[in-house]
Amino acid sequence: MDGLKSRGKVIVIGATNIPNSLDPALRRPGRFDREIELGVPSKQGRMEILQIHTRGMPLAKDVELDKIAEITYGYVGADLNALCKEGAMHALRRVLPDMEAMREDKPIPQDVLKKLIVNKEDFEYALKMVEPSAMREVLIEIPKVKWDDIGGLESIKQELKEVVEWPLKRPESFTKLGIRPPVGVLIYGPPGCGKTLLAKAVANESGANFISVKGPELLSMWVGESEHHVRDVFRRAKQVAPCIIFFDEIDALVPRRSYGSESNVTERVVSQLLAEISGLEDLHDVVVIAATNRPDIIDPALLRPGRFDRQVLVPTPQEKSRYEILKVHTVNVPLTKDVDLKKLAQDTEGYSGADLEALVREAAINAMRRNLDADIVTNRDFAAALKYVKPSVTEDMNAFYESIMKKRKAQKIEEEVSYTG
Ligand code: ADP
Repeated sequence: MDGLKSRGKVIVIGATNIPNSLDPALRRPGRFDREIELGVPSKQGRMEILQIHTRGMPLAKDVELDKIAEITYGYVGADLNALCKEGAMHALRRVLPDMEAMREDKPIPQDVLKKLIVNKEDFEYALKMVEPSAMREVLIEIPKVKWDDIGGLESIKQELKEVVEWPLKRPESFTKLGIRPPVGVLIYGPPGCGKTLLAKAVANESGANFISVKGPELLSMWVGESEHHVRDVFRRAKQVAPCIIFFDEIDALVPRRSYGSESNVTERVVSQLLAEISGLEDLHDVVVIAATNRPDIIDPALLRPGRFDRQVLVPTPQEKSRYEILKVHTVNVPLTKDVDLKKLAQDTEGYSGADLEALVREAAINAMRRNLDADIVTNRDFAAALKYVKPSVTEDMNAFYESIMKKRKAQKIEEEVSYTG
């Protein structure tokens, strides 16, 4: 390429899906000096691609291409092509028995041809068969959890609505008032009390996509891989924005005291994470939520203003919340009249949401043990279950989380004072 002094009539176009593994010498000016990123198609792009691949297809009226374009996150052009083909094959299979003519080399009768129409059901089948290739490494989902599926925790729901749902749905209101919504939210509290559930619900209710990453998964032993993964997650999130990125067990990224390669990995991942988060500040359509049950060991760098600066404690449910949670989990469970959920809520001090769910399940299993055809769960079943399912949160644990919350509040005030001072 260096030999081509002036461009003349020869131009070199290279294509790759691993640009970062290329020899940097190739990417220098004078060689491949113009780089064009061809990303995963957006909704509009998918719509156009679908239109192209269904051009010659007899489509039934119930096929709504825009609906299909909407739900096919992460499908690239080749996937959409495969989707259309798979749908058509399904339609073909439906009329195949009528196609005796094909075997005898006669023209297909007109009435059979008329039946050869690709309908909605064919596409639904195809959607199950063809998987999006762009999502293989970063899985995007649209959670189904609603606020109503979470019992109690009213003030926390409200807080999440304000810091996550409002900025995603009404960014202009924030601009009008001249404030910047928080980019990162840290949810902490004892295990099984609904942190994941809350993150999913807020994604669903604000109509955002949801990418869930577990802290330990971010730590790969291959040099450079971990940062790569972090970058991929954020890039994907921006592509499918509005989006919520959920980092579960973020405490896995603790700064390790030991030396060796491992501590380097966490350090690099944390700094990559911070860089990506500060890159989000002006975007408003990607929110990062992290969850942990060890707020005490989190790298303090993550908690500074502009990062995970909104911290929400999800405590063990109190009696009223426990009652609400029991109601949520018994919605579809037939109960005898003597089952008193209020009384149960009183008797379950220290039970987390997950414990209460287990309690209901155990009671139902007890009912089945009595009689496999049982169609109702009685108070006796619950009494037996209470002996079996024990509370997982102790008094000490609660005190620990409370003390952390108090410390954080005090720190905040101190910071504010030092700002003004
Ligand atoms: P965490 O992320 O805090 O460890 P999860 O959100 O994964 O806990 O909760 C585990 C399970 O416990 C949930 O799938 C849900 O069934 C149940 N659960 C926890 N809290 C609640 C709640 N407030 N209302 C209803 N179910 C709950």
